[in-house]
Amino acid sequence: MERRRGRGREKKRRSQRKKCDAAQATQRTQEAVDSPAVAGFDGKRGLVLGVANKRSIAWAIAKRLADAGAQLAFTYQGERIEAGVRELAGSVDSPLVTECDVRSDDDVARVVREAGEVFGGELDLLVHSVAFAAAEDLEGRFTDTPRDRFWMALDVSAYSLVAAAREAEPLMEAAGGGSILTMTYLGGTRAVPHYNVMGVAKAALDSSVQYLAWDLGAKNIRVNAVSAGPVRTLAARSIAGFPTMEAIVEERAPLRRHISADDVGAAAAYLLSDEARNVTGTTLYVDSGYHAMGM
Ligand code: NAD
Repeated sequence: MERRRGRGREKKRRSQRKKCDAAQATQRTQEAVDSPAVAGFDGKRGLVLGVANKRSIAWAIAKRLADAGAQLAFTYQGERIEAGVRELAGSVDSPLVTECDVRSDDDVARVVREAGEVFGGELDLLVHSVAFAAAEDLEGRFTDTPRDRFWMALDVSAYSLVAAAREAEPLMEAAGGGSILTMTYLGGTRAVPHYNVMGVAKAALDSSVQYLAWDLGAKNIRVNAVSAGPVRTLAARSIAGFPTMEAIVEERAPLRRHISADDVGAAAAYLLSDEARNVTGTTLYVDSGYHAMGM
């Protein structure tokens, strides 16, 4: 009986997934047909931290901005991904691709300085799409997280925004203002099984967004976050039970479908654009409405 019910649920889930894929395909076709010219980034100069490959959320954001006229500098972490990031950056005529490990203050300072050099001492946009926690801490119990790996997750995933914003501040001030965007997740405000220490890092990140918004607002620099639903990326793969997270969104989110990196790109482009000139210190959820549910 239970097994039959289980099979029924699985069938329903599969049919919902089909419907959802069809809806997304229609959406994509409409986008291709209508494809309104995205305006608003001509002459804007941005620095993008966090492209690892073409599936990265940072790349979806960068592509949007570049298609709308922005000039972008990119960072990569480690030789392993360098060639891939250089190829992607080349496809949008990037003037700068440089290495950056956000755990190093020197690296962060150098990277922003190099961006300043190619952009005439000014910067309009900063995209922070970086996070890391050890794979063993994204399974099992949060309670067992050791001290060193707790701080590492917070260092890479939260403090790096503060460090990058501080370095970018003078360049954005020289530009008359700027817009900073980071990527967060619901696991920072609610307990999501397996997200563990990364949730604690996102809580620190979310709070940093608000404090940075207050500090930098006086210089017309805005700081916001997009909270994305599950997207299959390199980082997502290290979260145990990630497919379950996707399935639950499809089943319980008001829109009953999962989201794509492009959806995040669209929301990010809004927050980074002048259209959002009076929006700061906020989090925009791109998760098919899942965060609004109590069950
Ligand atoms: P991704 O693996 O493509 O991107 C993560 C990036 O972080 C990589 O480019 C990696 O090189 C970089 N990084 C890690 N440690 C670093 C370090 N020490 N120095 C410099 N860079 C470092 O995965 P993604 O899913 O695109 O992740 C981007 C952001 O989006 C992260 O903040 C992630 O938490 C957030 N996010 C992702 C999802 C999702 O489901 N994929 C959902 C919500 C939020």
